[in-house]
Amino acid sequence: LPTVAIIGRPNVGKSTLFNRLVGKKLALVDDMPGVTRDRREGEGRLYDLEFKVIDTAGYEDEDPQSLPGRMRMQTERAVAEAQVALFLIDGRAGVNPLDEEIARWLRSSATPVVLVVNKAEGKQANDGIMESYALGFGEPIAISGEHGEGMADLFQALLPHIDGGKFEPADIDAPDAILKLAIVGRPNAGKSTLINKLLGENRLITGPEAGITRDSIAVDWIWRDPDPKMPEPDEEGNVAEPMTERRVRLIDTAGMRKRAKVQDKLEKLSVADARHAIDFAEVVVLLLDATKGLEAQDLKIADHVIKEGRALIIAINKWDVAENGSALFQGIRAALNDGLSQLKGVPMIAVSAFTGKGLDQMISAAFDAREAWTRRVSTGVLNRWFEAAIAANPPPAPGGKRIKLRYMTQANNRPPAFVIFGTRVDQLPDSYTRYLLNGIRRDLDFGAVPVRINLRARSN
Ligand code: GDP
Repeated sequence: LPTVAIIGRPNVGKSTLFNRLVGKKLALVDDMPGVTRDRREGEGRLYDLEFKVIDTAGYEDEDPQSLPGRMRMQTERAVAEAQVALFLIDGRAGVNPLDEEIARWLRSSATPVVLVVNKAEGKQANDGIMESYALGFGEPIAISGEHGEGMADLFQALLPHIDGGKFEPADIDAPDAILKLAIVGRPNAGKSTLINKLLGENRLITGPEAGITRDSIAVDWIWRDPDPKMPEPDEEGNVAEPMTERRVRLIDTAGMRKRAKVQDKLEKLSVADARHAIDFAEVVVLLLDATKGLEAQDLKIADHVIKEGRALIIAINKWDVAENGSALFQGIRAALNDGLSQLKGVPMIAVSAFTGKGLDQMISAAFDAREAWTRRVSTGVLNRWFEAAIAANPPPAPGGKRIKLRYMTQANNRPPAFVIFGTRVDQLPDSYTRYLLNGIRRDLDFGAVPVRINLRARSN
């Protein structure tokens, strides 16, 4: 198995993350001859990635201001053995001199490092996340080891290092890669009916693949695009054939749903269902019921999809029995816009699982969403947009000193994350960041996709 080392100063939450990754399979070191008691090892799992985890904790009781030499030795040994090191910092406490010291060792090691900002539930780690860029390990992954948030991002970050050849990052970014799609929604929205219709006539099911997570089931099938797009010409001007047969892996939560039906707490469990499916999806279709409209529970699921950084499409089912369709459509659009700023411009499609109306359009939108989710915008294009956005609405000047935003770059995709460098960025109001976010999503065609912006101070 590939090895993952969890590194960090005391109290950043290494053991909590270790326990989350290893779960019950925890092998305490005391039982393993030849390994010092200062470290724990176990077999970890994140979705379908399996790896050995080394936790270098064991000093949590000691003076947190000093770093004993043996801790350094442990850390160096663990890192040398590992294919990848997870460098944990405490997002609420921010970067401290010990973190900086560990960062210096890690920079001199050959092992790749994923920077992880822990304790990031809610917004409490926003400052810590920004500060952590200064450690020089690129885009940090924000997680909450305790609450299990950000695990999908951690999974994405670990993939290239420990995939064992299973998921090549180049593969998952390719336009012909299989689309991982989840259909979620409240009970009775029509999910089962819709999935049956999708997998029904004319669709080739290439074999059910059970057990991607314990509770969800994946079905691979081929969608025939009735209206395929012409691909862009390559550098030599050659145009490839349009893709008419496209692979889709549909994540179903059938097992969970059955269990939910015999319980009272339907609403609560349906969110848990959705979470399992969302973890594994690139694009999530949130299915609404036209006869019910948008309810608080739907917004909760949508919010979760966005927090987990998945692309989102809203499909309004039972359109065959919808009354006053256009008012309903506009009403839902307005409620989405009010509900969450990141839902502005999210694609909305009217469908009927009974008649099949809108289903091809829905899958087509899901492929477009995946394309946007995966896209990298060149720094040139980005900065032309950025300059125009700033010229149209300059940042404020608190206390008479203008906040200067200098340039912007895309730090990541899946989902897209941007970094903006500037001075006094800590004083930039949230409303301004939202202005930029909405502009990026509107002007650069990220409609279905949650976009992230990190601000970073730069003195020149
Ligand atoms: P799930 O709990 O989300 O899987 O919902 P089901 O697929 O079990 O559907 C719930 C109810 O809605 C069933 O009675 C379906 O027959 C009905 N239903 C599903 N899709 C449609 C549709 O497109 N139009 C209409 N009129 N009813 C539908």
